[in-house]
Amino acid sequence: MIKIMTIPKEVQSVLEKLKKSGFDAYAVGGCVRDFLLRKEPKDWDICTNAKPEQIKKIFPKSFYENKFGTVTVQVKSKKPSLKEIQITTYRIDEKYTDKRHPDKVSFTGNLKDDLARRDFTINAMALDSKEAIDYFNGQDDLEKRIIRAVGSPDERFNEDALRMLRAVRLAVELDFKIEPETFKAVQKNAGWLKAIAKERIRDELIKIIMSEEPEQGVELLRETNLLKYVIPELEKGVGVSQNRHHIYTIYQHSILSFKYAAQRKYNLEVRLAALFHDIAKPQTKMGEGPESTFYNHDQLGARFSAAILERLKFPKKTIEKVANLVRNHMFVYGVDEVTEAAVRRLLRRVGPENIDDLINLRVADRLGSGVPKAVPYKLRHLQYVIEKVSKDPISVKMLKINGDEVMEILNIPPSPKVGFILSALLSEVLDEPEKNTKEYLKKRIKELNKLSDKELKEKNKKVKEKKEEVDLEIKQKHWVK
Ligand code: ATP
Ligand code: MG
Repeated sequence: MIKIMTIPKEVQSVLEKLKKSGFDAYAVGGCVRDFLLRKEPKDWDICTNAKPEQIKKIFPKSFYENKFGTVTVQVKSKKPSLKEIQITTYRIDEKYTDKRHPDKVSFTGNLKDDLARRDFTINAMALDSKEAIDYFNGQDDLEKRIIRAVGSPDERFNEDALRMLRAVRLAVELDFKIEPETFKAVQKNAGWLKAIAKERIRDELIKIIMSEEPEQGVELLRETNLLKYVIPELEKGVGVSQNRHHIYTIYQHSILSFKYAAQRKYNLEVRLAALFHDIAKPQTKMGEGPESTFYNHDQLGARFSAAILERLKFPKKTIEKVANLVRNHMFVYGVDEVTEAAVRRLLRRVGPENIDDLINLRVADRLGSGVPKAVPYKLRHLQYVIEKVSKDPISVKMLKINGDEVMEILNIPPSPKVGFILSALLSEVLDEPEKNTKEYLKKRIKELNKLSDKELKEKNKKVKEKKEEVDLEIKQKHWVK
């Protein structure tokens, strides 16, 4: 028996209220699974034999707006996951003809029936304050760390094909194995995923991608035949060798880059870009062996990535970001090849807000190629130049006065002297920024005008020193010379 810890008081109180009114009440599903695993549940679901109308009477602060018997109760709690608790009337799903929606949902007075319609044994347990109700040996499977369908896996996946994707998602999230019969049934029924709404597929896929070891999820999708119905484009790279720069096949390299993106906790877009950056390599490969090329795979890959994500109904912002990263993943960053002007162009092309993600993508790409250093000197150097060109440069433009005003105040024609005076003002303002006011600068111009050119030049040195100081700080930050 797994030791039961305490159920949050917010949940306890909802359970109590239902029981006081004479109904059954249990926590049920994913929260019971997580609770028994000593993991914090994402949300708490409660099931009961009370009908929605009866639940609403007991909880005035609630709303009921679906046909499945779920009432959402608002609860006072500091924890966001406990502010809303869903209470669902015991129900059974009757006959699925379209592989995704029960033809009819009907209420039942029986907890066991409600648990029997759930997908996996570890998700089919109920819990009250004293004990776990476990008709399908969910606790055994929790201990053995396996995902097993409730009842006949073949039938269960025929009823609702999304369950197959949920099996993979739960297996990677929990680091569980899919039980062999259940596994075989997924392989057999994988094609039914076609009947499932793309939004539901997307939501499970995102959970896989954001898990700790999502590359195992993609591998599992492939082994279960599901990948064909989610991202068939990825399979085109299986077994396709690259050139002398690569030790891995296209698919292996994509999976590894993706793995490292997740290991480094990069965001969704970078993870997707790491998985997709070479997605068009199979189509662009020219020649065989060490000299083969993949000309334009970045541009075409951006189009493929966008098409995949559009198909899966990802938000437009995500699609654009991932396509942008894939399109630009080949950027050059050799110390001698990259001028400040080139870095400015890169920033304009990618957008300054995306540059860190692009560098992260390169890091994942490098690690996925099996190179020894994730962030080599030349990449740090690029980061240094990016920061340098992104920072507001130290210049006379910072002054609250300009050259025209200097000429007007001193009544002098354009000459090097105007520049010297501005520069001298800048050197003072760098030391004491509060002096950067029109009144002060106007007054100071007249005093500086009395100095000789040589004395003015002397003051300029300070500006140069300050610029070097800032540059040195950025260099040190990025460990470059
Ligand atoms: P998570 O921790 O991500 O919320 P979960 O298992 O709680 O995972 P939910 O979508 O919140 O997933 O579903 C709650 C419960 O409803 C599940 O634990 C399971 O008992 C049941 N359930 C969800 N989807 C299905 C399905 N497609 N078929 C059968 N039962 C399902
Ligand atoms: Mg849940």
